[in-house]
Amino acid sequence: MNMGNTCDVLITSDDHNLLRAHLFPGDHDEYGAVLHAGIVASSNSLRLVIQHVELAKYGTDYVPGKFGYRALTPSFIHRQIIHCRNERLAYLAVHNHNSDKQVSFSNIDIESHERGYPALLDIGNGVPVGALVFSRRAVAADVWLPDGSRRTLGAYRVIGQTIKRSYSKPRMNSEVQETHDRQVRMFGRRGQTILEKSKIAVVGLGGIGSLVVEYLARLGVGHLVLVDPDRIEKTNLSRVVGATGTDIETGQLKTQIAVRHAREISNQIKIDAISCDVAENSTAMKLRNCDFIFLAADSMRARLLVNALTHQYLIPSVQMGAKIRPSSSGSIEDAMCAVRQLRPGKGCLWCNGLIDTTQLAIELKTDEERKNQAYGVEEPNPSVITLNAVAAANAVNDFLFDYLDLRSGNRELIYQHHHFLRNVSQSVMPRRNSNCFECGERLGMGDALELPTIVHSEQ
Ligand SMILES: [Zn+2]
Ligand SMILES: [Zn+2]
Repeated sequence: MNMGNTCDVLITSDDHNLLRAHLFPGDHDEYGAVLHAGIVASSNSLRLVIQHVELAKYGTDYVPGKFGYRALTPSFIHRQIIHCRNERLAYLAVHNHNSDKQVSFSNIDIESHERGYPALLDIGNGVPVGALVFSRRAVAADVWLPDGSRRTLGAYRVIGQTIKRSYSKPRMNSEVQETHDRQVRMFGRRGQTILEKSKIAVVGLGGIGSLVVEYLARLGVGHLVLVDPDRIEKTNLSRVVGATGTDIETGQLKTQIAVRHAREISNQIKIDAISCDVAENSTAMKLRNCDFIFLAADSMRARLLVNALTHQYLIPSVQMGAKIRPSSSGSIEDAMCAVRQLRPGKGCLWCNGLIDTTQLAIELKTDEERKNQAYGVEEPNPSVITLNAVAAANAVNDFLFDYLDLRSGNRELIYQHHHFLRNVSQSVMPRRNSNCFECGERLGMGDALELPTIVHSEQ
């Protein structure tokens, strides 16, 4: 949990590997760097997401120090803090110690922070400044905020295909409840503790999303953020898990059905229910500090927003969908489901042509505009619970293996497509366009950039 005086730091696996290779070239010496970090500020938590790694060249930018063994040069520090101030990013100086499972700043390190950081905060003009120190398997932080408070590290998380975590010292795992005994035999107390401390969002609580909620609640995820603006309808009863005939009669909100269902499974689960469109700014703001997002809403604006959150806030996510295409003669042409894992810097839904710009333009109009321009209501799409279940189960299963870091080796990120008529599964390699704004410029910017949310015209 990221409460009180800690701060979590998130970094992409590519940036982490670059930094590690620089700090630990194999000679047991000390090296330095500065990280530029997007700021994710909410009322009770602070998270920093690494936007850029600036390696300090030994001999030019990182030199023998007046007080300590080695230090960043004043001119290097000055260039970095000015850049961070201009871009509204946090400044984090990095060096390494040669310890292993645990690490902390030396007295000389702390004294240098106390000498230097008040002035850096002044120059930064509102952005946090601070330091990280790495050992081979641990990381510690000393982050200074403009209000005068200081934060230590909560967790350091590396976001690649899998999610890897480091702390300043080895952590205690919580006691396992008997209800989770059988799954803990697969992923251990460490995995169960991670799930209990995680804040996971499910966007869209229809056929696929309601199943995802069921799985996450039974797995013991501690905090769920459930997003759906709609009320249940008669035609949903065939697919929405937890929905009853009474819910149909009363037109219950889908969030309320999901909350009730999750609580029947576990009364300890913390739930934020948001009965608004995900692309509303107020909803998007509440998703910025989630640890993983399941995207089961099928609108283009939901795709655009979650794709942006993944890259701008380094939140791993997965987009799921099922589609049945009838032919003109009334038979089925294709029945498929897709599970597309999204990770910052690894290609995006925009790069891969999965955000239909015509459809997006229609969705971003107000209801009134849509009515006036007679876009009409389309024929409802076919939808069947079993196809949804394949998508939901595959997505949550991949989440378990990746999020709890149970897979060894570096697997490539893939999009999975299952075509049920032909009974084939395909793996599609996502493309990455180096000019893409959505996964390029947004990457790691945190609160310094606006999200692509719905703009309401003045009444
Ligand atoms: Zn040190
Ligand atoms: Zn892209």
